Amino acid sequence: MQKPEECPKCKSKKILRIAYGFLTPDTPIADDEFPGGCCVTDLKWHCAACRWEWDPNGEGSYNKDNEEY
Ligand SMILES: [Zn+2]
Repeated sequence: MQKPEECPKCKSKKILRIAYGFLTPDTPIADDEFPGGCCVTDLKWHCAACRWEWDPNGEGSYNKDNEEY
């Protein structure tokens, strides 16, 4: 799937692909991935600047969890 050019909210280009299914803190994660946890949702992209997360239909919400990231 093609990664979006920029965040639809803040126009940042620091877009991360949300990767699901990380079960241990030791699991390596790519530089352009964001750990979305083990609960798979429709959200596909995460903005590293404003924490907006959205799906291919443009629906989304701000990430309020994973404060350590
Ligand atoms: Zn953003």
